[in-house]
Amino acid sequence: MEDFANNAIRDITVQCAAQSSKTQTVMCCACWAISEDPGPAMWVTATKDELKDFVRDRLTPTFTACRPVQVRMGDPTLTGFDFDGMPFYTAWAGSKARLQSKPLRWLFCDEVRNYPPGRLEMVLKRTRAFWNSRRFLISTPGRRGDAMDTAFRAGDQRHWHFECPQCRHLQLLRFEQLKWDTNETTKPGGKWRFDALAGTIRYECSGCGFGIKDTPVDRRWIETHGKFVSLNPNAPRSHVSYTWNALLPHWVEWRSIVEEFLGAMNSMRMDADIEPMFTFVTETLGEPWETERWDVANDDRILERRGDYDFNAPWPLEEIRFLAAVRKAKGGEH
Ligand SMILES: [Zn+2]
Repeated sequence: MEDFANNAIRDITVQCAAQSSKTQTVMCCACWAISEDPGPAMWVTATKDELKDFVRDRLTPTFTACRPVQVRMGDPTLTGFDFDGMPFYTAWAGSKARLQSKPLRWLFCDEVRNYPPGRLEMVLKRTRAFWNSRRFLISTPGRRGDAMDTAFRAGDQRHWHFECPQCRHLQLLRFEQLKWDTNETTKPGGKWRFDALAGTIRYECSGCGFGIKDTPVDRRWIETHGKFVSLNPNAPRSHVSYTWNALLPHWVEWRSIVEEFLGAMNSMRMDADIEPMFTFVTETLGEPWETERWDVANDDRILERRGDYDFNAPWPLEEIRFLAAVRKAKGGEH
């Protein structure tokens, strides 16, 4: 919100986990603009249906609940709202005509990952006429290298870091540090027992190994004892970008994150179904999907490594020897 009020900043890109009140935050920024620094504005959703629901269920109630905004609000127009002469257009990414309309001071682009190709670039041009325009992009991630990810990486890439309550080491908040026990109590007979497993979940400090417990108080510590750190200090000062994962909002139990992860692993291993892992990576970890990282069922990549081996032949630099089998879904080849 501070960045939003700063005319030295043109682009704010937020690519992060779902359900972490990001759209609400941006709506508050929109209220601030209407009340404190009016100028032509536009809110863009991915689809027409989304726009209709969003305007009715979220945007209109937010505007009418904010007194300084509500008193300026005129009758709804065909293309959005009117605040004492300040047009607030609403549009969806599929509508070329609306995206190419008037010059804009304030631009809000929501759920950018679902825009048709080329549409983000099209609407971003609408802010050229204003030296002090702001372009606010928010989305859960899609795929590595798509328009949203490219915009995030062009910014200064701020990631949430927090201080260990034990050793005070400032560290990146990452899923890889979430640990749980695998033993006969938590996984009897090879099947997870989530109630037993939940009690062993902890966040392991990357400095001293201290385990932070999965309680509301401990999760709040991570929220209140940290800051965003830029991992791309070479970015232009006019472009800030933020990311965080579902470990940050204190209302998300880590247990639910671990359960989702183990379920997604199971679907991938047992059914070669990649979809739950895609949802976990993009919506919970808040990271763009990289096919190469997760697609263990990609036959071609395994077949590329096929060769003739003598089981007992020594391998130079051998660390571990294992056998992989590829089962073809169709046809007779195995
Ligand atoms: Zn520590």
